Amino acid sequence: MVQASINIDLDTLADDIDSHTRIIHDEALPQITYQRVLPRFLELLDRHGIKATFFVIGRDIAANTRVLRQLAESGHELANHTMHHDKQLVNLTDAQIRSEISECDQRLAAIAGTAIAGFRAPGYTISPRVIAILQSLGYRYDTSLNGSLVYSATKRLFKAIRLQDQTYVTCQPMADHFGPRNPYRLGDSFTHEDRSASFTEIPVSVIPFAQYPFVTSVLLPFGLNATLWGLDRLISRGLFINCGLHINEFTDPGDVAGRGETFYYTEKLMKRPLAERIRYFDALFAAIRQRCNIVLLRDIVA
Ligand SMILES: [Zn+2]
Repeated sequence: MVQASINIDLDTLADDIDSHTRIIHDEALPQITYQRVLPRFLELLDRHGIKATFFVIGRDIAANTRVLRQLAESGHELANHTMHHDKQLVNLTDAQIRSEISECDQRLAAIAGTAIAGFRAPGYTISPRVIAILQSLGYRYDTSLNGSLVYSATKRLFKAIRLQDQTYVTCQPMADHFGPRNPYRLGDSFTHEDRSASFTEIPVSVIPFAQYPFVTSVLLPFGLNATLWGLDRLISRGLFINCGLHINEFTDPGDVAGRGETFYYTEKLMKRPLAERIRYFDALFAAIRQRCNIVLLRDIVA
């Protein structure tokens, strides 16, 4: 049976962009995500008896200590998604990258009561420099590398013709897209597996043929059958299922009713009623549970 991970980035509504594709600055929005949206996902996990890996932004930890501690205590994994979710992470100085990672790390470790093993970079853009800093901080794995050519092409096109706030998108060098598709011990480049290395890269799953990432915010608009087809392709090739979600997929229009902003990605997701999205995830999680052995990402490097 292949292994699978359900993991979710806790990018809040404040980490979306507005309808003019500009970064939103609003300090109240993260709390709407934590207080109103997150409970829906936790209910879903409980219904299926699934333990998940949560990528937490350090900025949000102090205001949400109680819920994050509950997650850790009930067997979920807390992992590092940087302090401020800066999409330009790979372009910062070494000292800035280190503080983006270590500040989040210290806050998370204090809540989890144990060392944090894993990291995901904002916007799936990672570099050997960030990896070296992760290793020096004792991290065991990174799960940022997204080798999907469709995703990469779409991102580049979006940046070139649509994006107003250019700091919102940073692209992965194309050469990095051709590495191993299963978790691997990372050598001196992303395409180089070194079995003697101690650090693991857990790439985002990419559906064979379609070249789509197995990331539900991308797959949800195509519907359940397309998603299950992708799951089937991955399983039949014996590939690890790195199923990535974003918490904004559980936002209901009522959560943000009466506010002035529009949310570029979240509005697109909300075109499907929340109940329909919940049914999608119920069916997807049931299928993954039935066909895979669900693990936490840290279990892979244990
Ligand atoms: Zn993120």
